[in-house]
Amino acid sequence: MLLDPYKRKINYLRISVTDRCNLRCRYCMPEEGIPLISHQDILTYEEILRIVRVFATEGISKVRLTGGEPLVRKGIVDFISRLSQIREIKDLSLTTNGLLLKDLAEVLKQAGLKRVNISLDSLRKDRFLEITRRDGFGQVWAGIEEALRVGLSPIKINMVAIKGLNDDEVESFAQLTLHLPLTIRFIEYMPSGNGEEWKESDILTIPQIQSRLQKVGELIPIPSDQWDGPAKRFRIEGATGEIGLIGAVSSHFCGDCNRLRLTPDGKIRTCLFSDEEIDVREILRTGGIDQDIKERLLVALEAKPERHLINTHLFKKCQRNMSAIGG
Ligand code: SAM
Repeated sequence: MLLDPYKRKINYLRISVTDRCNLRCRYCMPEEGIPLISHQDILTYEEILRIVRVFATEGISKVRLTGGEPLVRKGIVDFISRLSQIREIKDLSLTTNGLLLKDLAEVLKQAGLKRVNISLDSLRKDRFLEITRRDGFGQVWAGIEEALRVGLSPIKINMVAIKGLNDDEVESFAQLTLHLPLTIRFIEYMPSGNGEEWKESDILTIPQIQSRLQKVGELIPIPSDQWDGPAKRFRIEGATGEIGLIGAVSSHFCGDCNRLRLTPDGKIRTCLFSDEEIDVREILRTGGIDQDIKERLLVALEAKPERHLINTHLFKKCQRNMSAIGG
């Protein structure tokens, strides 16, 4: 079992398999994209598998693939199928923008993927284009339908609510849960990324979201289970689906943090909002043995901060873009 210095049990690895993305969400990236990590610096699938095997023997049992956009990386389905054969990994999931999901959902399920989180910030075709700079709403919605059909569930839809951009859609998103088996998760806008400038005043806070949700129906709390992340779970009375609230900025969920991150170029990150990185790629490419990989994991564990520093004078926006960390 992996315990950090604050006695938190760390069992979750979030792997960013690429920094490439096929959307250009305004709050995440500029229109022209960001400088990319060179191909030779990106971990091969073989290298990622080796890291996961070592981590899994130490206590990592939950893996999520993210990016950039994980589904744009060539060979992702075969990689997932190999990852799913690692016996200790009990939960294997993926975060995607959904653009390529319609064609891939079925093969992903067959490869052993358990479930997907799909990022979607608007239910309006024109606004989707405005936010992502790509005309892809229909494609994403078809991807959600296909994920439902093949049973990549529970399917969670992540919506970042930003004042003046899409905050008037909170109620429409919540209404989706009335008849569809979807979990709609509202996420506070975080100070990260190379997109349009983040302003604290643009955050629609969880208490503000909650008061809007009350207009759709009474929110009934649901007890969290072992796979729940930082989301507080609710169900609108009589609804088929669920609501999740993630107060990344306004509340402190760090006490329950169970995760480490692996960047596309092989660095372990101890917190989304800390630039502390521990290099594992170097070990892999200089003939290191599994014990050396394990030692890097233990260094990362020791370095895990007690909490993020947003809302304190010590906070610095992190150097890496969200697309190269994995959101
Ligand atoms: N391409 C995949 C996707 O769209 O889900 C995975 C990577 S993306 C960086 C992961 C998540 O980070 C998305 O849900 C995105 O909305 C979120 N994200 C990016 N910048 C953010 C910010 N400043 N605040 C909150 N969420 C953010």
